[in-house]
Amino acid sequence: MYISELTKNKKFVFSLEIFPPKKDGNIETIYKTLEALAPIKPDYISVTYGAGGNPADNSTCQIATIIKEQYGIEPLTHLTCINSDKAQVDGTLDYLEEHGISNILALRGDRNPDIAPKTDFQYASDLTEYIKRRGGFDVAGACYPEVHPEALSMDIDIHNLKTKVNAGASHLVSQLFFDNNDFYNYMYKLRDNGINVPVQAGIMPVTNKKQIERMVSLCGASLPKKFVKIMSKYEACPEALCDAGCAYAIEQIIDLISNGIDGIHLYTRNRPEIALKIYDSVKNIIKCVNQG
Ligand code: FAD
Repeated sequence: MYISELTKNKKFVFSLEIFPPKKDGNIETIYKTLEALAPIKPDYISVTYGAGGNPADNSTCQIATIIKEQYGIEPLTHLTCINSDKAQVDGTLDYLEEHGISNILALRGDRNPDIAPKTDFQYASDLTEYIKRRGGFDVAGACYPEVHPEALSMDIDIHNLKTKVNAGASHLVSQLFFDNNDFYNYMYKLRDNGINVPVQAGIMPVTNKKQIERMVSLCGASLPKKFVKIMSKYEACPEALCDAGCAYAIEQIIDLISNGIDGIHLYTRNRPEIALKIYDSVKNIIKCVNQG
């Protein structure tokens, strides 16, 4: 099923993101994660693709197939293009088509200073257009409530996002953020600029200190005072930090749902116990919103 159909028919979409095991890791380990996440019955599960925009081995596609065939859950396959040419992209699309997988999150991928980028696709909008021209796939795109780090301004970034939506991105998934006001302000700007497709808010529960440092350096998310205070208070006590990080994410999610957003995409970091804890605290709220 196309995810765009789901977003049309449901008031609120709740989805999860997982990533493939590391290169030398065993794909079997993903079963443990999926086994634990499946009872949540998320609307879909997305699978990340080659960190840094490197063409992955085919583990992303394999895992998407497992999600669909063995767990009966709709997969959303991430696909980056910065280090791929058309032939590589065609190979991935052929595989996905053969396995009945019809939802792709089309991404450019981050620049890797050690690899010269390929030239067939410059931006995610080029990949989106290419996939839509081929047909048979529903394409989603990424968006950035605090501006993409390379963009010169929010206005330019939103202008570029509009190109991606016009190329065929039927729904958007946001970068993580910790201040809901950033997301609300961003949504006003998107709607003002005629971007009317559904947008799911990306929420990442922060459960350890190292994760915060890594995340901020990678995606430039700003940290509100309240968040910093909570994290620094419990940084020496991992279990307390984990509880506090989950509580912060739950509060963010409840506020977002209450303000009528289209959906949440929860970055699980392959920690099903955290995702379950969060889902358990919001499941009745999600049910209520979708019934009403
Ligand atoms: P684009 O939409 O191409 O935008 C990149 C930059 O180019 C922006 O600054 C934009 O303003 C600018 N731009 C876009 N179009 C134009 C244009 N026509 N002219 C001029 N400038 C333009 N990375 C991975 O490697 N694997 C993953 O699985 C992955 N999953 C992600 C999932 C989500 C929800 C998000 C938010 C990010 C994910 N990323 C992933 C990271 C992503 O690849 C990086 O943020 C990357 O730097 C940008 O990708 P994009 O698809 O948003 O690029």
